[in-house]
Amino acid sequence: MLLVHAHPDDETINNGATMAKYVAEGAQVTLVTCTRGEEGEVLVPELAHLAAADGDGLGPHREGELAAAMAVLGVTDHRFLGGPGRFRDTGMLYDESGAATKPETIRPDTFWSADLLEAADLLVSIIREIRPQVLVTYDEHGGYGHPDHVQAHRVATYATSLAAAPSYRIDLGAPWAVQKVYWSASPRSVMAEALELAKKAGINFFDMESVEDLPFLIDDELVTTKVTARQHYDQKMAALRAHATQITEDGPFFALAGLDGSNAFADEYYRLVQGRAVRDAGDSLETDLFAGVQLDDDRLGDSDAVPPAQHQRMAEVSGDDAGSEAASAATTGAESRAANGTAKVATEGASVARNEGVARAVG
Ligand SMILES: [Zn+2]
Repeated sequence: MLLVHAHPDDETINNGATMAKYVAEGAQVTLVTCTRGEEGEVLVPELAHLAAADGDGLGPHREGELAAAMAVLGVTDHRFLGGPGRFRDTGMLYDESGAATKPETIRPDTFWSADLLEAADLLVSIIREIRPQVLVTYDEHGGYGHPDHVQAHRVATYATSLAAAPSYRIDLGAPWAVQKVYWSASPRSVMAEALELAKKAGINFFDMESVEDLPFLIDDELVTTKVTARQHYDQKMAALRAHATQITEDGPFFALAGLDGSNAFADEYYRLVQGRAVRDAGDSLETDLFAGVQLDDDRLGDSDAVPPAQHQRMAEVSGDDAGSEAASAATTGAESRAANGTAKVATEGASVARNEGVARAVG
């Protein structure tokens, strides 16, 4: 799977447990971070000198924080789009309504100023190299409005589309169609519950009175998928701590996370926006980002588009009305994923390149 994020720490906050879960299950997890987060606020007084307004040393420092966080989650393939420092953090302001928005001055080297096609091409290369079945990014508001998050959404969306086009820039690799695309989501009901819990415990959660103060929450009926990875929750919290300049140990995040019964950060939610959701019988939400994906490798285009027959086959397997048998067959989890991958590697000896592709794609 491939995750596209704007700044170091976004991946852990949004998808930390999900990433640790799929790494543990043997999937190849790749993180692309679009900027080094040079404009982030430095919440730790001892490190205040790193801030952009001061020494501007925050970018390299956060590279180190990200590496430490990924070590905790077990993610070995994490990259910056175009290399570290290619695109600079744009920074953000809060407007009068409290929504995140662009700063007044925007430097030409920022991610927001980047040419969309140029940035997308960098990601097309990565998509075609690692050939992910699943891609995770933000919604069109970038989750909460930060311009770099909005840009990450645009770049990821554009690149996914271009990567699949058979005739597009074959110098960037063989075409690859991502099967499922997800946007991270914070369901309104989940945050309302967490806020309630925080209030009862006397925790001031970023001065929020009610969920009405949070414009980025998603209506529950739009959420398709919930990844529960409680056994990786401690890893997520440890990875958050690795982003030390961004999150204070005695701050509201950890206070809320530490409460009994708080699931605020244990379960991670998604909206499936491309591909078909595959739910187990009786579940209202899909529980596995890989549910229904095909792991065979015949999607590698020579110069052919993904054959229509294959789309048809996918729809049959993963269709909502395909019944629980198909659904459970498609969601048998890690072992079968790993086993499929191994079997593929073993049986497709003809092409080393293809085998490498399978091994990379499924771990
Ligand atoms: Zn961010």
